[in-house]
Amino acid sequence: MEGPVCQVAWGCYVLLAISIGAHCAMSSDNLACPSTSDLRTQPVAALDKEGIGPAMMSIPMIACSTSLSEHHSGGSGTNKNKQMVEQLQRYGVISSKKVVEVMETIDRALFVPDGTPAYVDSPMAIGYNATISAPHMHATCIQLLEENLQPGMHALDVGSGTGYLTACFATMVGPQGRAIGVEHIPELVASSIKNIEKSAAASLLKGGSLSVHAGDGREGWPEHAPYDAIHVGAAAPEIPQPLIDQLKPGGRMVIPVGKIFQDLQVVDKNLDGSVSIRNKTAVRYVPLTSRDAQLKGY
Ligand code: SAH
Repeated sequence: MEGPVCQVAWGCYVLLAISIGAHCAMSSDNLACPSTSDLRTQPVAALDKEGIGPAMMSIPMIACSTSLSEHHSGGSGTNKNKQMVEQLQRYGVISSKKVVEVMETIDRALFVPDGTPAYVDSPMAIGYNATISAPHMHATCIQLLEENLQPGMHALDVGSGTGYLTACFATMVGPQGRAIGVEHIPELVASSIKNIEKSAAASLLKGGSLSVHAGDGREGWPEHAPYDAIHVGAAAPEIPQPLIDQLKPGGRMVIPVGKIFQDLQVVDKNLDGSVSIRNKTAVRYVPLTSRDAQLKGY
């Protein structure tokens, strides 16, 4: 083949090779492999700038063996959740005791749709063109925010989806703190509240220190600002100004930024109000967008 035809064929080959490579790197066992169409909408740790990537890349294989042991050993959900957390620790994704504690306390199985393998290290579809992030991404984000999730602090979870991270944040900031989830699909808000009610964070929801709201997360949630910690669970083309405004001096935001190529950015607001931004790792998240665009498939 010559000229443009050859270039197109070569381009297709390269794309296919990349897609197969990414697929295999993320999940080396069919049990855990998401479909190719799912990959389009999933948070994926792909590259590494600070040493997290390689560990993340090795986790799916391990998580697959967790799913295998689910089939064969029939341990309790709590035990399997603990095993998942232990594997994340063993592979260097979690190095903090507090992150271990909270991820052991909040059972991931209560937040994934029925019939979905809960403890596999992969994002899973939750409907409405959204996903629950992979355990290693949850662990990474909690760990990045850990210092800003101390008892009594305020946390905002934008694009709260299943409510898993909102429940983790609420558990860390405790009844004297405040954890707010904002999600623009009302059905996900309703199901996330049901998930949280079944979890160890139920009393915080009842007591009012944890709440989930339907709304456009790009506007933040001014009522309980300023926030010590802001997590954004969907990729923004650029950091929304209201989120920067609602970050407390000394506060930290973790947000995926970009369209096709995305970086997980760590945004620290300094005491003088200026912000410092650094890239943590390359990722792939669903977009932070309008509800209409999301429901139409972006
Ligand atoms: N972190 C969550 C969900 C991640 S998927 C979890 O792990 O369960 C990203 C979520 O962001 C989806 O639920 C999607 O509906 C939501 N989202 C996207 N754009 C949004 C916006 N503008 N405002 C609020 N939520 C948004």
